[in-house]
Amino acid sequence: MAATTRADVSNFEIVSHYFDVAAERLGMRDDVADVLRSSYREVQVQVAITQGDGRIHTYRGYRVQHNGARGPYKGGVRFHPEVDLEEVRALAQLMTWKTAVVGIPFGGAKGGVNCDVNELESDEVQKIARSFMDKIEKVLGPTRDIPAPDVGTNAQTMAWLMDEYGKLHGHTPAVVTGKPIELEGSYGREAATGRGLIYMLREAGPHIGLSAAETRIVIQGFGNVGSWAARISHQLGCPIVGISNVDGAIRNDEGIDVDRLMSFLHDEGGKLTDFKDADAIEPDALLAIPCDVFIPAALGGMIHKDNAHLLDCKMIIEGANSPTTPAADEILTEAGVYIVPDVMANAGGVVASYFEWVQNLQHFRWDEREVNDKLGNVLRRSFRDVAERANRDKTSLRMASYELGIERVLQAAKTRGYIGG
Ligand code: GLU
Repeated sequence: MAATTRADVSNFEIVSHYFDVAAERLGMRDDVADVLRSSYREVQVQVAITQGDGRIHTYRGYRVQHNGARGPYKGGVRFHPEVDLEEVRALAQLMTWKTAVVGIPFGGAKGGVNCDVNELESDEVQKIARSFMDKIEKVLGPTRDIPAPDVGTNAQTMAWLMDEYGKLHGHTPAVVTGKPIELEGSYGREAATGRGLIYMLREAGPHIGLSAAETRIVIQGFGNVGSWAARISHQLGCPIVGISNVDGAIRNDEGIDVDRLMSFLHDEGGKLTDFKDADAIEPDALLAIPCDVFIPAALGGMIHKDNAHLLDCKMIIEGANSPTTPAADEILTEAGVYIVPDVMANAGGVVASYFEWVQNLQHFRWDEREVNDKLGNVLRRSFRDVAERANRDKTSLRMASYELGIERVLQAAKTRGYIGG
């Protein structure tokens, strides 16, 4: 298997594996584990729209609400051709543990439509978003389930979702987070997942003798998460020595000028591999660039048993959801790589979403500094809780995160009376 292809292990298998190991380590009863691993509700809908070619295109839409013991369901909506029920189910479950690990009062959910936004015009994407909302609005609401952006969706998509929901229920900004600033979005939300990764770097770095300022970083994926992580770490003075996106990969051992790259890609419409101040390399070669921190910020399953040995880093901070298969996790842990897992590392997005929801409910806006400060406080506290537990139990940050998240959900479920014993 080529180094950059994805594993033949699905997101669902990855999340299920980590859950099963954690449940076993916690000594959880089988019947209780069955409740916690299965979804509360899975909605599958038809999204049929007439496109510019005059034909009706039929997509599948999904919303999975995994567990609501700790609060309203929360999680993104993914527009990607590979979206299917099993993937959404896995990602919804991951959200349940994620919101619990960082201690925000939400359950876990995820949604998606199997469309390819790169092949669609903006008005076609808008039709898909509105049609999807029309089909799932009954299970949503600010106290029921609150969608947000994910792969293939952004603030604009959230604006359409909010607007469509508003037609049926009246203006309800708190039904969706990750909205544009002019439509009651929160300052700091767009950058929050990437910023959160860098807060993690600052907390985790000292554990392995890294100081954030000189850290050499490689970033796989240059969407919202990867590009913000790059911009913020570049501002801190970290050399970004490798970057990839769907078009390919680039390397510059002196550090890539991220601001210039951003304007080359977005203002000039350039292609990553044509960027003059870096060398275009084979996508496979990105993993082998010597660095301190490797940040996977693309899709799930990108680091797997056939390419994990290529990585030449001290730390991995998982920006994507489920980027590392269990087999790769084992190889890397054995090689002494310190892995900050998705379920905690990329929680900055949903934490800022929580802040957006709170602001919407209060009809009061915080400034960006307040959002970033509060985000830092939540993520630092989460890292310390998890690191302390990992240290106490001589286990990985991943296991400590899963166990902490699962314990909190179980506790809430028991206290509510959902689960006896
Ligand atoms: N899609 C993001 C995630 O996977 C954010 C979810 C949210 O803000 O609700 O965590």
